[in-house]
Amino acid sequence: MSQAPDFTATVDGTPRIGPNRELKRAIESYWKGQTDRASLEKVAAGLRADTTKQLRDAGFDSIPVNTFSYYDQMLDTAIMVGALAPRFASVSDDLDRYFAAARGTADLTPLEMTKWFDTNYHYLVPELSADTAYSLDATKVLAELAEAGGADARPVVIGPITFLALAKSTDDTSRFEKIDELVEVYDQLLGKLAEAGATWVQIDEPALVTDIVDNADEVATAAEVAGSVYARLSGVANRPAIFVNTYFGDPGATVLEALAGTGVEAIGVDLVYGSADTLKKVPSLSSKLLVAGVVNGRNIWRTDLDKALATLESVKGLARAVAVSTSCSTLHVPYSLEPETELDDNLRGWLAFAAEKFGEVATLATALNKGRDAVKKEFDASAAALATRATDPRVKVAAVRERLAAVSEDQLARGESQARLAAQQERLGLPLLPTTTIGSYPQTSAIRNARAALRKGEIDEAEYNNRMRSEIDDVIELQEQLGLDVLVHGEPERNDMVQYFAEQLDGFFATQNGWVQSYGTRCVRPPILFGDVVRQQPMTVDWITYAQSKTKKPVKGMLTGPVTILAWSFVRDDQPEKDSANQIALAIRDECVDLEKAGIGVIQVDEPALRELLPLRDADKPEYLKWAVDSFRLSTAGVEDTTQIHTHLCYSEFGEVIGAIADLDADVTSIEAARSAMEVLDDLNAVGFKNGVGPGVYDIHSPRVPSTEEMTKSLQAALKAVPANRLWVNPDCGLKTRGNEEVTASLRNLVDAAKAVRPAAKA
Ligand code: GLN
Ligand code: ZN
Repeated sequence: MSQAPDFTATVDGTPRIGPNRELKRAIESYWKGQTDRASLEKVAAGLRADTTKQLRDAGFDSIPVNTFSYYDQMLDTAIMVGALAPRFASVSDDLDRYFAAARGTADLTPLEMTKWFDTNYHYLVPELSADTAYSLDATKVLAELAEAGGADARPVVIGPITFLALAKSTDDTSRFEKIDELVEVYDQLLGKLAEAGATWVQIDEPALVTDIVDNADEVATAAEVAGSVYARLSGVANRPAIFVNTYFGDPGATVLEALAGTGVEAIGVDLVYGSADTLKKVPSLSSKLLVAGVVNGRNIWRTDLDKALATLESVKGLARAVAVSTSCSTLHVPYSLEPETELDDNLRGWLAFAAEKFGEVATLATALNKGRDAVKKEFDASAAALATRATDPRVKVAAVRERLAAVSEDQLARGESQARLAAQQERLGLPLLPTTTIGSYPQTSAIRNARAALRKGEIDEAEYNNRMRSEIDDVIELQEQLGLDVLVHGEPERNDMVQYFAEQLDGFFATQNGWVQSYGTRCVRPPILFGDVVRQQPMTVDWITYAQSKTKKPVKGMLTGPVTILAWSFVRDDQPEKDSANQIALAIRDECVDLEKAGIGVIQVDEPALRELLPLRDADKPEYLKWAVDSFRLSTAGVEDTTQIHTHLCYSEFGEVIGAIADLDADVTSIEAARSAMEVLDDLNAVGFKNGVGPGVYDIHSPRVPSTEEMTKSLQAALKAVPANRLWVNPDCGLKTRGNEEVTASLRNLVDAAKAVRPAAKA
């Protein structure tokens, strides 16, 4: 049994990419061969030292370490437990092997990447098989522990249950089959950490707030698995005190009871997305240190300190002691508000990025242990800043609220779909199996240079617009030459499909330096949705009508849907997400109507993120899907039946949302067919989908040029599942990351494939 003293204030984890994305730059220059390993390691060590110092300066008595990563914490865990997929063993240098697993090489396919729970972070999926032989490699965690020094350093590792729940099996053995062997490795790890002087270890088990373990056939319930794994680990003779951490939701009383029934010393819960009430149903918590995540680690709002303190007080009697923490790692928020010079005072007062959250945790811990008066000044300042959120006129705009309240069911519905199809066909006169693309064309260096020049003030808005128009000219001409049927303008003016709209809509704030890691070295800067959404004027009409003026073929208007805008932003926490989605939907609806008025006959509303906001618990999924579908329909159903609405979906396995895709009732859905076109179509048929569909026949995620024969075969297969008058021919996603030459060659083949299939399809 461990004798470690309880801690009172900490955070679950921290950002790691660098306050100015120093790590991103250092890694990318290492990849390009511009710097050597030693200089990369120096940057990394510097960032870790800065973070450790920052946490100590904040007054925490326990500091997370091993939260750094050169790419991803799941990949780090795979290496720690000796479960890196064997194909990477051929790379001899350990760091290069690591990056090979993350990004692939000329001969090695990388690990698959997928979303980390319901965040915008993506992890690398460990591959397990009958041959996986777990063995401990504690190099990284021991090095980071030693580097931080001090008894306050608390190594953080992903736990065995979460590791297995998120891994995939590459043969037919169950991923949980060798759980005992894996737990044995954690057993050894605990010994090594104790030897190295660690007094506490944090073992993260966010999988326990989902249904993943319960849904896996091969194992007992999550509660049973958690109970047995942690009974075993807490039985290790020489070990640090164990803090099992859950986050992103509520683990439920049964799981908590199972954990509390073991010898672990501390249990962490997310009291922002989970509930304090659950804890009341767990009597055995009374012997544990409860690590209470009351400061939101994944959204950017300032904490209501009085409310958080009340929560802390309410759980105080339920545990042996209470420590204050964030609800999850602050990996998911930007470093600091300091660089945000364009924030007005009100808005600044409502926000807290990672650095500000550290301060909130420390303040709350003081209040909990010494009384609120000890930090009265901080509490008062916080309350005063937050008070303006209730009265700021941007937060509640009466006209928006009245309009939303008056929305009726019939505003979500269009005419009968077959009649729409006929009316659209009459207007557009398209051939069978019409060809189109998803929206963006290659982002050329001319586009990037123009954007940089505009930012630096080297060119003015008018010159920038001229250059973008000239890009549109080129893209329209290319599509005419290739013989595509429904053209696009190519999206040269868009930096990003969400930010572009957020910058034009009231209610959003685009940060200057609010970068968060999306995966590896890729960072995103999500806009902040803080107020009611107002569209002051048309956002895309000038660009699209310009493109339409250059061709007789129909040009597709291109918009981002409400769910995707929401999914890729930091969203206000003072109203249900559904209401925010519907406000955005109204703005998109007005844009659709304006495009229609300007003579545009085809409008695409992209929803690639439809699946991303899917709740972690099965029970919550139907309600989400209902409002997500409704908000898409609200945004698209304002147009006449003669206007053709397209949507585009990608980035995911569609299984769980396939019914929702049909319910969107778009006239045409282009969809990434990750497996095969046929399978997606079969799935859609199974839910009674009757509208147009374009399963991607050209994989844009690879530079390979698909041959005409290959795409012809895909189309012939597709025709077995859908009639010719509903089948569209298109790539599986936008082309912006690709080069001009490969795109031109691929699209030429795509058009040829459509032409090759048409005669037989007509017959
Ligand atoms: N219209 C967007 C594009 O073509 C869609 C991007 C996406 O699906 N992520 O770039
Ligand atoms: Zn896509």
